[in-house]
Amino acid sequence: MRMAKRIENLPPYLFVEISKKIAEKRARGEEVISFAIGDPDIPTPAHIIDRLCQAAQDPVNHRYPETDGLPELRQAVADWYQQRFGVVLHPDKEVVPLIGAKDGISHISLCFIDPGDIALVPDPGYPVYSVGTLLMGGKPYYLPLTEDNNYLPDLDSIPEDIAREAKLLWINYPNNPTGAVADLGFFNKVVEFAREYDLAVCHDGPYTEVAFDGYQPVSFMQAEGAREVGIEFHSLSKTYNMTGWRIGMAVGNAKMIDALTRVKSNLDSGIPQAIQLAAIAALRGPQDCIPEHNAIYQRRRDLVVEMLNKIGLETKPSRASLYLWVKVPEGYNSVTFATALLEQVSVVVTPGIGYGKSGEGYVRLSLTIPDAGLVKGLSRLAEWRDSKSGFRAKST
Ligand SMILES: *Cc1c(COP(=O)(O)O)cnc(C)c1O
Repeated sequence: MRMAKRIENLPPYLFVEISKKIAEKRARGEEVISFAIGDPDIPTPAHIIDRLCQAAQDPVNHRYPETDGLPELRQAVADWYQQRFGVVLHPDKEVVPLIGAKDGISHISLCFIDPGDIALVPDPGYPVYSVGTLLMGGKPYYLPLTEDNNYLPDLDSIPEDIAREAKLLWINYPNNPTGAVADLGFFNKVVEFAREYDLAVCHDGPYTEVAFDGYQPVSFMQAEGAREVGIEFHSLSKTYNMTGWRIGMAVGNAKMIDALTRVKSNLDSGIPQAIQLAAIAALRGPQDCIPEHNAIYQRRRDLVVEMLNKIGLETKPSRASLYLWVKVPEGYNSVTFATALLEQVSVVVTPGIGYGKSGEGYVRLSLTIPDAGLVKGLSRLAEWRDSKSGFRAKST
């Protein structure tokens, strides 16, 4: 058989490789502690599961759902945006439910990218932005996110001709993998930039509800004129620990929402209706699970930052997201450090280079491990550092 070039050139998804390595170790009977994947370890709240079970019993929900979802779900999303962000959305024109945000993120490129087209993509960034572009034969133009610029892209440094030629601009705050946040001032600037260069903006915002120290992230849709230039992807995955149920949404620009819905209506058959009803229960139900979960993550964040800094690994406490962005010690790059950790102490972290060239020099640690595993993993790291083969020993 002869496969398409797009498959030949497609790298395996970052976490597939990591999962394979972990499985190999575990098969050998080793206890692996993984800080690698951002997948909440806390279960979905009971009232959401109860609604799901009840809805699963109802034959009405056993049949094909509509691609654009239940009108009640679109309304629940619109109401949630109004309550949370003060943003008023038209439930039928400015909202589309997704099979997880990743569904929309990967498929929006079908709506914008013809072969040779440019998408502006943050580096480091969630791999799906560039992969979606590449699958369509497009060219990602990478926007470096650096500590000096608080991990925000420097829009003014994009060459004029690139900005003019580009069709899509990807942004993501609270950010994965850096844990950085953006304020409304930045989003306003993005809208201005998009207007000037006729760009469609895709803001990926699944972490707006995962925040610490009383900080409340903003939505891109709060920016003046945002709905004229772009959409926001959101998800119930991280907000309600629903990664396994696969449900998210895109909101904003009606033309973009319509195009995405048209593509999806030809490719998938919607979200299982029982899951849509569970999502309504999540969005309309009690929200106290959110601060409860954030308190758990915040405690873990503080614990990990303290332990890392104590063993000489530099990182700052993230104000939001599930991640810490940690500098690798001298004498290592992100891959050699992650590999050494896995081989020496069976601790898994994600090498920054996996998120793009500018991720080099960093590893990402996720806070989605129960406290006991977290302490155990970091203690192993500390022991290794102090051993003969440890990283301090190498650089001195
Ligand atoms: C987790 C994550 C997503 C995917 O969310 P789903 O709704 O589970 O598909 C999208 N973007 C970023 C940056 C993420 O970290």
